[in-house]
Amino acid sequence: MSVLVFVENISGNFKKSAYEVVSYAKTIAKSVNKELVAISIGDVSEENLLNLGKYGANKILTVNADNLKSFVNQAYASIIAQAAKQEDAKIIVLSNSFSGKGLAPRIAAKLEAGLADGVVELPKIDGESFEVKKTAFSGKAFAITALRSDIKVLALNANSFEIREDAVEAAIVNFEGSPSQEDFGAVVKDIVRATDKISLPEAEIVVSGGRGLKGPENWGIIEDLAKALGAATACSKPVSDAGWRPHAEHVGQTGIAVSPNLYIAIGISGAIQHLAGVSSSKVIVVINKDPEAPFFKVADYGIIGDAFDIVPKLTAAINAHKDS
Ligand SMILES: Cc1cc2nc3c(=O)[nH]c(=O)nc-3n(C[C@H](O)[C@H](O)[C@H](O)COP(=O)(O)OP(=O)(O)OC[C@H]3O[C@@H](n4cnc5c(N)ncnc54)[C@H](O)[C@@H]3O)c2cc1C
Repeated sequence: MSVLVFVENISGNFKKSAYEVVSYAKTIAKSVNKELVAISIGDVSEENLLNLGKYGANKILTVNADNLKSFVNQAYASIIAQAAKQEDAKIIVLSNSFSGKGLAPRIAAKLEAGLADGVVELPKIDGESFEVKKTAFSGKAFAITALRSDIKVLALNANSFEIREDAVEAAIVNFEGSPSQEDFGAVVKDIVRATDKISLPEAEIVVSGGRGLKGPENWGIIEDLAKALGAATACSKPVSDAGWRPHAEHVGQTGIAVSPNLYIAIGISGAIQHLAGVSSSKVIVVINKDPEAPFFKVADYGIIGDAFDIVPKLTAAINAHKDS
């Protein structure tokens, strides 16, 4: 028996969330006295694979076929489910990322497993009882879910569990897997990066602007701050609806959900629909001239004042600090 964790990579490098899920799965594996097996799909160097051992992966299954270089939902789900059967995995952990959201229910269906997605804490395991805390209603509430199935699939929210080193000797094993032809009903033909900008869902820091910026011509102060911090830019819905910014930047309930280490909200009121997509950010900084703005209630740090006065000063201070 084992615990299986799926580790995602981008262009051969593991994402931060991959180390989070390995650390999380290792903690579970230790608590139930099982081995931790990681599965990686795609072209990842041996050095990067072995690095997973630093976080507790005892065995690393590597799958590398030409037709699996890019993410193919059904095929990846088939391979992970096959690996779970081979390793007799009773607990399967993934990141609740864009890919993980597609994979987790498919894997659960294939294995007739119970599924908890949006997981934010370690499960409480007591004999046969297995309970896990997860987000509900777009992050506005938490639910405790009891999984009663023999096999359990958990999709962990980013930033919910810290990366923990727990070095073990890791063994790399090639795993073939045999996805069916039907699994390749849709394939990625090519990936073209739209811009050189930092990808919003993957960003560690996000600088976001709202209607308080008054118009698209004022977005330079947002971009300058983002550049100084190496951050991605985002906006509220009315901003993209008005065409001030592209829709791909709109975050919230109906936009992209982000969970960076730092989210800076500038001239955004903090409506519940906006908070639904950003509230799992680790640290939230709010800049708003209205001290009653709802965003201040969820902020870790708040600056009350005019964005046009504060943001350029903040950018200058960050640049001066970087130069010193
Ligand atoms: C079904 C539904 C889904 C929705 N989904 C989303 C979603 O996914 N994402 C989203 O963002 N919204 C969403 N909305 C809209 C949401 O309800 C709010 O209307 C929206 O978030 C408000 O955007 P805002 O804060 O930029 O603008 P406003 O509400 O107009 O707030 C502007 C803020 O800027 C401040 N301000 C003004 N001038 C300055 C200045 N010079 N310096 C500093 N601060 C200043 C003001 O005090 C104010 O707090 C949705 C709404 C509905 C009904």
